[in-house]
Amino acid sequence: MAIVLSKASVLTVDADNRFLPAADIRIEGRTIEAIGAPGTLARPDDTVIDCSEALVTPGLINVHTHAATAFFRGLADDRPREFWSAGYAVPGQERFTVADHVSSVRAACAEFLLNGVTCIADRLGDMDKIAPAIEQSGIRAIVGHTLLDSRGPADWKTAEAVLERFGTDPANRVSASIAPHALDSCSDALLREVARRAEKTGARVFIHVAQNEPEVAIVRKRGHAGALACLEAAGLATANTVAAHVLYLSDAEFAAWPSHGIPIAHCPASNLKIEARTLPLAQLIGRVPIGLGTDWTVTNNSMDLLAEARLAALAGKMRADDPEVLTVQQMVRMLTIEGARVLGIDRLTGSIEAGKRADLVVFDANRLEATPAHDMASNLIYSLSPRSVRDVMVDGELLVRSGKLTRDDETQLARSHRYLGRPS
Ligand SMILES: [Zn+2]
Repeated sequence: MAIVLSKASVLTVDADNRFLPAADIRIEGRTIEAIGAPGTLARPDDTVIDCSEALVTPGLINVHTHAATAFFRGLADDRPREFWSAGYAVPGQERFTVADHVSSVRAACAEFLLNGVTCIADRLGDMDKIAPAIEQSGIRAIVGHTLLDSRGPADWKTAEAVLERFGTDPANRVSASIAPHALDSCSDALLREVARRAEKTGARVFIHVAQNEPEVAIVRKRGHAGALACLEAAGLATANTVAAHVLYLSDAEFAAWPSHGIPIAHCPASNLKIEARTLPLAQLIGRVPIGLGTDWTVTNNSMDLLAEARLAALAGKMRADDPEVLTVQQMVRMLTIEGARVLGIDRLTGSIEAGKRADLVVFDANRLEATPAHDMASNLIYSLSPRSVRDVMVDGELLVRSGKLTRDDETQLARSHRYLGRPS
């Protein structure tokens, strides 16, 4: 028995960016088995979902998240840059327990799914306790336990446990990565060890890079010309390292970056909120894989990846002083297939093609913000929002149906989450 999304408008985001005005998508198990003419793919006993008034897109891919900090939302707005570079400490964070973090994960993953996000690249400490909650939500994820020199060798133990538990094969719905925190909080020795273990285990590496000026100053004090040189010295300036933020590079470093092929996790809202800065997206896009991330809720504070795409386009146009750059098509790809390339999973997901995993979003075309239907891709970037999301599927499982979670109850999650960590 298969599921057929019938008579849908489809943004395939394949190599030719084909838009199909009406098509059936047949999903067998976790895989897109076929895409065909409308009304032709359903067989007896299939579950047919009418999509004649809907737009189907690949699932949105959020390449930089910290799901376990969802309850920090609203705790630190409008702070000076120094507040963050002093260690990203959130006022009152000590009152939250690991159990609170785990509970926060379920709420965050539910929110991601309701927003049309089908895959996250998530990282934080205590990942051995957090990752099972991510797994239970049904979302696709690559998880990493944050490594810091200050936490010592025990950190490797936890990282190893996560690698052991989930493996590094992205064909697993949840797989593990190696996640050193940043260039200043990780010594050169730790970064070299990360490169060595990544090579040994086949894990992808996720790291914050050049997020603030003090970080780059510390890297220079260690004798490196800048952030890129620091990555190079550690053996991490490769296509296997995902660098988040990348704000404080020199012009020469930005020019040299694409030749290393280091994928970038671009988090425009977080960057603008806490650093009032954005990277030169128009200069980098198309030359190196770049995906979009919502980062953590204290610096964003939203988990709306569509808003992130719109902001990336607009802020990027401003940075380039050119309204022609960062086209709708490029932004649609950033939300989906380019995000998958960043995570090294583009052969599995990120576009709607036979043989790929069924990670899909169905947007309600009867929402006013989805009309008129002159250009569905344009609507996706510039006017749709999470309220337009109708159904969400990951690995062939419907996790959101008619705007409601199928594995969780949104109201219950919100109730349990609303006053989490509130001082008594
Ligand atoms: Zn981050």
